[in-house]
Amino acid sequence: QNALLSATGTTIFTVMSALANQHQAINLGQGFPDYDGPDDVVRAAADALLDGRNQYPPMTGVPELRNAVAAHNGRFYGLEVDPNAEVVVTSGATEAITACLMAVLNPGDECVLIEPLYDTYLPVVKLLGAVPKLVRLSPPNWELPRAELAAAFGPKTKAILFNTPMNPTGKVFTAAELAFIADLIARHDCYAICDEVYEHLTFDGWKHIPLMTLPGMRERCMRIGSAGKTFSLTGWKVGYITCDRSLAPNVAKAHQNLTFTTPPNLQRGVAVGLVKDDAYFAGLSSHLQQKRDRLAAGLARLGFGVLETKGTYFITTDVRPLGWNGDDVSFCRTLTEEAKVTAIPVTAFYASEDAPSHYARFAFCKGDALLDEALARMERWL
Ligand code: PMP
Ligand code: GLN
Repeated sequence: QNALLSATGTTIFTVMSALANQHQAINLGQGFPDYDGPDDVVRAAADALLDGRNQYPPMTGVPELRNAVAAHNGRFYGLEVDPNAEVVVTSGATEAITACLMAVLNPGDECVLIEPLYDTYLPVVKLLGAVPKLVRLSPPNWELPRAELAAAFGPKTKAILFNTPMNPTGKVFTAAELAFIADLIARHDCYAICDEVYEHLTFDGWKHIPLMTLPGMRERCMRIGSAGKTFSLTGWKVGYITCDRSLAPNVAKAHQNLTFTTPPNLQRGVAVGLVKDDAYFAGLSSHLQQKRDRLAAGLARLGFGVLETKGTYFITTDVRPLGWNGDDVSFCRTLTEEAKVTAIPVTAFYASEDAPSHYARFAFCKGDALLDEALARMERWL
């Protein structure tokens, strides 16, 4: 059997969701909304399904969705994108990440990753025989350590893969940080895989900036979006990659060998979503900002150290002020078993041993009543 996969644990999201179910806990661990996506998007997919549009679609995506992805890039970021040569639709951002890594990495190439990191990044880089170079952000500010990042780039660097807005930190990379990264990419003549699944989930006026919009980056970036996050439909697994026409053929060949195509009816629903009016996108973030505020205020009231969340579905909390002396894993297990509320230990997002180990991540993409009930349960427990 494959040694790397044998050495990879089951994803923390599956582990904690199973534990939540076992203990009938409120699941603020795995990031999925407990409300449905927009009615018109769901209906468009249902109509396509019932219309019998259920056979293999074009490999890079149905034209409606490729056109919508290109238009979305133009509308929000001023990017001019050829829907026929610069968009690849995938089965979720998870596949997109793997396809982009496959498209550029050869065995022995180095790939820069930023910790805390989403759990699929490292195993896939390693499976491709590439060498991960980890650069760590530290709580509570998650500032980019510029000297360390620069030192992680070298003659063997082929790509950097990073996530903004960032899970689990809620960090939104600033224009200055992105300019610093862009300079390193240009100097080392390499690529960027930009996991931007939370692009529309930013708060307090923070604006998401795709690295791809910076000077010199148009040809070097593979920009990834997900219908799961943008339309609160995480089970659909429809992702989309925007990249230069020089990169798209290899990205498409990776996709052809992973899943080949993505369900056509779901793609048609997402196409309807991406051209929704500006009010939809503004409403999505203001709706989630209220939830962030509700949960953050409640957690602070209970005595958690609440770190700032500028975007995503997640709040990171420091559990030490509660008087908890164990690590984050024991905290999240005990919280699930005793308080009947589930969170994710943030060490799950670090690959190295000496990670900060007293942070728990809570998802706030839930109905207000459920958030309130979770807070009430934790209050009773504390
Ligand atoms: N990247 C990040 C940072 C995520 O949090 C997630 C989880 N939604 C994904 C990628 C995967 O997205 P998808 O469900 O579209 O595969
Ligand atoms: N992205 C979601 C999270 O971070 C979960 C996705 C998954 O379960 N793989 O919670």
